This record gives sequence, structure tokens and C-alpha cells, in this order.
Amino acid sequence: MPGPGEFELIREYFGSRFNTGARQGSDAHTVALGIGDDCALLNPPAGKVLATSVDTLVAGVHFPAAEDPFRIACRALRVNLSDLAAMNAEPLWFTLALTLRDSDPQWLEPFARGLAQTANQYGITLVGGDTTKGPLSITIQVTGACEQPLRRDGAGAGDRVFVSNQLGAAAAALPLILREVDGSVTQMEQAYAAYHFPEPQFAVARAIGPYASAALDISDGFLGDLGHICEASGLGADLDLDNFPVAELARSMNGETALETALTGGDDYQLCFTLPEKHLQTVQKLQLPITAVGRMRAAAGIQCSLDGKPWQPGATGYRHF
Ligand code: ADP
Ligand code: MG
Repeated sequence: MPGPGEFELIREYFGSRFNTGARQGSDAHTVALGIGDDCALLNPPAGKVLATSVDTLVAGVHFPAAEDPFRIACRALRVNLSDLAAMNAEPLWFTLALTLRDSDPQWLEPFARGLAQTANQYGITLVGGDTTKGPLSITIQVTGACEQPLRRDGAGAGDRVFVSNQLGAAAAALPLILREVDGSVTQMEQAYAAYHFPEPQFAVARAIGPYASAALDISDGFLGDLGHICEASGLGADLDLDNFPVAELARSMNGETALETALTGGDDYQLCFTLPEKHLQTVQKLQLPITAVGRMRAAAGIQCSLDGKPWQPGATGYRHF
């Protein structure tokens, strides 16, 4: 098999490109020992709770096998970072379990570059991993620290429901990225940005952290994911869709069904959170990129209205099985 062996591979691609925990303006030196020993040795920041999450991306299932490795790496890490943001955790460390068909430098170099660029941008450090041979698959485990975790089970009846930025861009992007349909230059740019470079919502999470009652990141579609908050909190929700923030790409690609795309399409990684009425004015003054879309209620189920009439979408979120 051409290319570097396992240990050279780890050293060359994952050993030295990552900042080592001495992040500017944050908890310095949380990594006592990084890659190279049997375990990493880590110093948890004092007085904080650790938040940890793991995700696996399998070639041919979660991304096309021939996809650009730089973009795969950026997306894989951003998607994991989004889970930290949704919990209002600050990024600290991650591990990478990589299964590769072969050790092809043409694939590894851009993959490692995308991973390092993203990691250094968000101040998260690679502290270990595992490298095996087999069908391409990428498992990333992230760990962060939080003072005010945002859980799914804290919503109260009467709380307002908010979403960050716009929804539907990533779902509208997929047929463009898979080349199932043609798009303009602008649409292709919007598609790659939305699908491969989702923005973990750390700034919004930090700002709402002291006030929100529940939160999650929207990975499988807004309605389905809001359903998780409803279930965990033992509530339902009434949604008013007249001002729902539909992404421009969803509008330009899907026209009349754009609202449906925004409500049920996955992969946007925006935040959905609930806010007790008493904090509404305080949070509105923060001028965040957020939209109020409804209200939690005691009775189970989610009901939507559009133009003052009841409205129902076709499906509720992507199901893996
Ligand atoms: P062990 O056999 O003790 O599990 P490995 O040979 O799997 O050790 O790994 C050696 C070192 O390299 C460990 O510190 C491990 O965390 C690190 N490592 C292995 N693969 C990766 C990877 N893909 N990314 C980052 N670190 C890795
Ligand atoms: Mg190992």
C-alpha cells in the first residue's frame, strides 16, 4: 500500500498542526499531554461541567465517497462543534477515529488541512484518536466546558420559541451539491457554504445562556427537533409561521415549498431555544440574529398556523432508520 504507515501518518497529518490548548482569552494549558501516549492527559477547567458528544460520518451514507476531503473535514468538525454550541459549552478538546481504505496523501493532506483550519478557528484541540483500515468513516468526539448548560428538558408552558438565523439552506443545497439539478454561481456558492460550512452558533448560545430555558441544534429538521424539546419538557407548541425565517437559497430553489423546506429540512445546525416571557425584553435588546416563531403550551403536539389558518407540513424530519 503506497503512502505513509500508521505512525508516520498520525505524526504527519494529525501530530503537529493543531494548537495545544493555549487558546487566547480562554482556559490555557488544558492539555497536559496530547497525541502520542496511550491516553491524553487533560485538565478540566475549574468549576465547570464537561459536555461531551460523538458523531460518526460514513462515506456513502452521510457524505458522497468522492466528496472533497477538505470540505468533509470542515463539515465533520463543525457539526460536532454545533452540539457543543447547542449546550452552551465552550470547545476544549476532540478525538478523531478515522477508518481509511488506504493511506492516500492526496486525501489525507486536504482532510488534515480542513480539520486543522476549523479546529484552530474555533479553539478546539485534537488530543488523540485511532486510525484503522476499512471503508471510509470519520468519528469525532468533542468535549467542551459549560457554566450554564442549555438542556432540552427545561422549557416551560408559555415560553417563546426562537430559532437563529435562517433555515432550509442546507436541505435546498443538497440536490445542487449532488448535481441532481443545476444552479447559478450564486446558488452554488450558497449551497457549498450552507452544506459544508454550517456555523456553530456559539455567539447566540453564549448570549442567551443566562436566559433560555431549553435549547438544541437543528440537525434533522426544525419541526422534528422542536418535537425533542416538547417531548423532553413534557409540553407541546403553537407555531405562527407568518414570519418564519426561510433561507434565501430555499426560496430561490424551492419557490412555493420553501417554507416546508425550512420547517422539515435537516443539516442547518441553527439553534432552536425557548425563552421564558420574563426575559423577552432583555433578550430582544441584545439584537441577536433570532426570530420568535411560537410558544410552548401544556398540551402535547405541535400546531402550526399560517395567515391565521391551521397549516400542516408533509413530513417531520429526516429519519435514519
Ligand atoms: P494505542 O495502540 O495505544 O491505542 P495508537 O497506535 O492507536 O495507540 O495511537 C497512538 C497515538 O496516536 C495515541 O496517542 C492516539 O491517540 C493517537 N492517534 C491515533 N490515531 C489518531 C488520529 N487519527 N488522530 C489523532 N490522533 C491519533
Ligand atoms: Mg489505538
